[in-house]
Amino acid sequence: MSQRIAIIGGGWYGCHIASSMIALGFTVRLYEQNERLLHEASGNNQFRLHLGFHYPRHAGTRIQSRDGFSRFIERYGDLSKPISENIYAVPKDTSLIDFDTYKLIMTATGIPYRSVDRCSLGLTNIDGMIRAEERVILIDKARYYFQHHLRHVISMSVQIKSIEQFAKYILVNGERFDYVIDATWGHFGRNIVSTYYEPTLLLYFEAAAGLPAVTFVDGPLYSIYPTEVETIYTLSSVPHTPLGRFSRSEEARSVRDRVNSEQIEAKRSLMIEQAQENVPEFLDIYKFIGPQISIKTKPIGNSDDRSCYVGRDGRVFTVMSGKIDTIFFATERILSMIEADQDESAADVPSSLPASIRAKVESIGLKLD
Ligand SMILES: Cc1cc2nc3c(=O)[nH]c(=O)nc-3n(C[C@H](O)[C@H](O)[C@H](O)COP(=O)(O)OP(=O)(O)OC[C@H]3O[C@@H](n4cnc5c(N)ncnc54)[C@H](O)[C@@H]3O)c2cc1C
Repeated sequence: MSQRIAIIGGGWYGCHIASSMIALGFTVRLYEQNERLLHEASGNNQFRLHLGFHYPRHAGTRIQSRDGFSRFIERYGDLSKPISENIYAVPKDTSLIDFDTYKLIMTATGIPYRSVDRCSLGLTNIDGMIRAEERVILIDKARYYFQHHLRHVISMSVQIKSIEQFAKYILVNGERFDYVIDATWGHFGRNIVSTYYEPTLLLYFEAAAGLPAVTFVDGPLYSIYPTEVETIYTLSSVPHTPLGRFSRSEEARSVRDRVNSEQIEAKRSLMIEQAQENVPEFLDIYKFIGPQISIKTKPIGNSDDRSCYVGRDGRVFTVMSGKIDTIFFATERILSMIEADQDESAADVPSSLPASIRAKVESIGLKLD
């Protein structure tokens, strides 16, 4: 009989893990508390498919992004599209690193780019810039894809409230499974790395189609990125997008759910002011259309770690995602731990070697089991 897997959370992680495990013959049930998939962080973010250029301070994150990017295109080719002009710019006075150091780090990571001396947005106060091939995730298409592809295994509008572990099985809201995967980005069980919760307020703008994606690195900077709709862009700012820092998920959700128009207005002026440092014509080019409110779960530390971690407590696997490109890493870690369990059961089978040979082998200090 195939093993029964419960997955909590219908974000990118839960959906991708469910899809991969079904393909391998597991019996999967995916629980999502909302009425649709990709409803929380997975449907409310900047929709970038990263290659690693955003993370000069964290090698593990760059390497996971570099590897995950091509796998994402291979597996979900239709769920992202290229960006015509994708620029990473190092500003003169506000960046934590200089342009040459930035380029050295990216070259050492083996991700392709070329130096350019202009961006069609006409940037000012820039030490240097590169152009790289990254993509934007098509969120509506992705939601439709998973909604259809996983339709037989989803339990929508179901909140998981309890998990009870036993030696040979586990109960999830009273139903029996072999394993549970917590893919809630830290909103259900105990987290596996030290994290905090950051409610976020990102801004949507309307502008002409085909404007470049521009990311200012590295440090308390900002970025303008296209969405799947050609004339809509997001503006995100490291210092101004966060609405606070909380140790408990409930506190962050309560702040997110109470955002008011004064807060939005205050964030809007701060973020526009910041963008005007390098894009002086910002207000002539972009027209504000509204906020996007979400929650990030972030590891504590200043290295900007956005790599993916998977932890285990008995029959429960917990995924701490970093970004969307790391979904493959999570799935493979879980599968290898389940495989190791099966190897351990095989180790209980006694050796069939004749006793005389066993004795000889053991007499020279080798262990057979
Ligand atoms: C503002 C912002 C910008 C970002 N920009 C990018 C970007 O450009 N590129 C990138 O790669 N990443 C980005 N990220 C990070 C990315 O969004 C996340 O890493 C990713 O979406 C997390 O996916 P997930 O499936 O782990 O979590 P989620 O998408 O949060 O999904 C978890 C799901 O679990 C469900 N759930 C929780 N508790 C329960 C329960 N008890 N029972 C049932 N269901 C439950 C929730 O309803 C939710 O649907 C950004 C994040 C934010 C907030």
